[in-house]
Amino acid sequence: MTNSIYIDQKQILKHYKQPDKHTHKGIQGHALIIGGSYGKIGAVSLSAKACLKTGCGLVTVFIPKCGYDILQIAIPEVMVITDNQEKLISNITFDITPQAIGIGPGLGQKIETQNAFHQFLQTNKTPLVIDADALNILSQNKEWLSLLPPKTILTPHPKELERLIGKWHSEEEKRSMAISFSKQYQVIIVMKGAPSRIIDGETLYENTTGNAALATAGSGDVLTGMITSLLAQSYEPISAAILGVYLHGLTAEIALPETGYQSFIASDVIANIGKAFL
Ligand code: AMP
Ligand code: MG
Repeated sequence: MTNSIYIDQKQILKHYKQPDKHTHKGIQGHALIIGGSYGKIGAVSLSAKACLKTGCGLVTVFIPKCGYDILQIAIPEVMVITDNQEKLISNITFDITPQAIGIGPGLGQKIETQNAFHQFLQTNKTPLVIDADALNILSQNKEWLSLLPPKTILTPHPKELERLIGKWHSEEEKRSMAISFSKQYQVIIVMKGAPSRIIDGETLYENTTGNAALATAGSGDVLTGMITSLLAQSYEPISAAILGVYLHGLTAEIALPETGYQSFIASDVIANIGKAFL
């Protein structure tokens, strides 16, 4: 039997933690965002900025060399580590110890990148958020799912979900396939959509915020940064997923009177994260 919970304002307050006024950036969480390829550095940039704006103390990105100047200029607050390849990620190694890692935005699926992702999964123990091309690579190599740390958060949109869990023929079937998958691999699945639903084993959380303005380029990359940020700030994985999705949706409601549905872009999500928290 599935246990279903609607995530409204009352529920979300059970997950939200007030900031500690004595904190400093060193204990506010260090997040690492891994992604990007030639022509898709913007995806990492959006994700990293959203990560910072969701409150973690430090953000580092791991990107191909071609993104170095772009990132440093776009977001001075972010630290940058580059792969030794110019246009793609081929070897994920770093000497920092982040509390959470988000991987996938703009990553691409070149064979070198697939191999690098596999190597990374074999040694990584840090809490993970997996999105976009990292999810697509995982869908093509399902045997790698056993390498994920327990409670890894997967954030597929409908097409990515289908690649991951297989084709469904009804909403009912989709839900039960997602629940089985979540239990089998001990992962949390953020099934993005309208509304987004979060599955953690037998429990399904249905988000109540958001609107069609969110159907825009980079929207999901921003969500990945937000959830990774919360995970780095020591939120339990399920709370990070629920709170990230709720705040992400809320930004679109807050911005709507100014942007309408048409003019709202992923950067408007980022610009309104502060108001969503308030
Ligand atoms: P992605 O497809 O990865 O860019 O992710 C899109 C994001 O926007 C997800 O968080 C979706 O839940 C959200 N989204 C897309 N379309 C809608 C919609 N019509 N109503 C509410 N949220 C949406
Ligand atoms: Mg996406």
